[in-house]
Amino acid sequence: MSIGKTPSRNEVLFVWFNRYAGVTLKTPSKTLVIDPVDVKPRDFKGVDAVLITHEHYDHMDPSLISELQKSTQCMIVADPTSVKKLRHLVSQEKLVEARPGSEVKFDSVSVKAESCNHPATTPVSFIIASEDDIKVFHTADSLPFPEMATLGEKEKLDLVFCTVGIAPGASPETGVEIARLTRAKVAVPYHTGSPADQRKFAELLRKELPKTTCLVPETGKIYQVSKRR
Ligand SMILES: [Zn+2]
Repeated sequence: MSIGKTPSRNEVLFVWFNRYAGVTLKTPSKTLVIDPVDVKPRDFKGVDAVLITHEHYDHMDPSLISELQKSTQCMIVADPTSVKKLRHLVSQEKLVEARPGSEVKFDSVSVKAESCNHPATTPVSFIIASEDDIKVFHTADSLPFPEMATLGEKEKLDLVFCTVGIAPGASPETGVEIARLTRAKVAVPYHTGSPADQRKFAELLRKELPKTTCLVPETGKIYQVSKRR
């Protein structure tokens, strides 16, 4: 699930690679992989960091993370519970704990951890800012929560990933509510195995938020997002 191409300035590329929250995000200089499960470590090349949102099996696979870390020498940024589970597998200087409000920088690419409304032990979501300041909000399995509106206003988000299924309480409707609160330019329905739920999300979004662009991804395909104007 590597991305061979390099995005131009003011662009990022992404691939959604499983039915869950698995996303590879490539900026002009960095490659970040979020919540890799159901993939092989050798499918990834040139990874700078792996980001883990919470410890559930559909988000964190310790042996995969360990292998991927060894083969790419990448950093692992993870919520506190996942850090505990990874401590014996990843060397200390490569493992960074992410708590809501914390930020890690990879040169000029920033990864901020934010809250996540999902019944895991210490879940986080991530706001990634590319070197051109394209802002991507990876909401993990989150249901909508009021502070998403504050974050949206503050960050001027370009792209938001919206859970539309599988997680408790998640539906196309809660996904659209995330798009409404965050006011990102482009909204992506994910975390589902159901194309019907993705279509439902697209339909609702068109009706309720006609100015928001809906990008319905297929797994394994590369998509490009440009800076918001
Ligand atoms: Zn999940």
